[in-house]
Amino acid sequence: MLALTERAIRASFVNCTQGEAKRLAVPSDLQTHPWDDLDFLGWRDPAAPQRAYLIAETDDGPVGVALRVAPQQTGSTRRSMCSLCLTTHTGDGVSLMTARKAGREGRQGNSVGAYVCSDLACSLYLRGRKHAGPRMHETLSVEEKIERTRTTLAAFLRKVTE
Ligand SMILES: [Zn+2]
Repeated sequence: MLALTERAIRASFVNCTQGEAKRLAVPSDLQTHPWDDLDFLGWRDPAAPQRAYLIAETDDGPVGVALRVAPQQTGSTRRSMCSLCLTTHTGDGVSLMTARKAGREGRQGNSVGAYVCSDLACSLYLRGRKHAGPRMHETLSVEEKIERTRTTLAAFLRKVTE
């Protein structure tokens, strides 16, 4: 994806108030992010681990969503799979993340959830730049997996914004 500035990041959020978008914690290392290898920008707020953020490029420009991370059951050895990149993790490597829907639906308390890599590093797992143990064997190429992840993410973002 194209590199984003802090200003573009704050302007991209569709499911929080302008005040929230102004205050939320933006990564401090944007300059050195591996943008070329990212299908989306995702991060956790280091001071508030239940908050996560995700920004993807769309035909309408960058679209950002604020997510709430469900608390983990610590010590779990259960294996679970990310719905975006299909990476399997053990323990708390996958989290249920919930986005309040944009607009009136969100104000009525409606939200959309997805199981996502807890570190939101799906792009790096797909490209083999980060590892989470053995992957499910698939005959798809890396490019096809990336395409699938982008399609799944676009569908998730549509559910948040529609
Ligand atoms: Zn993932």
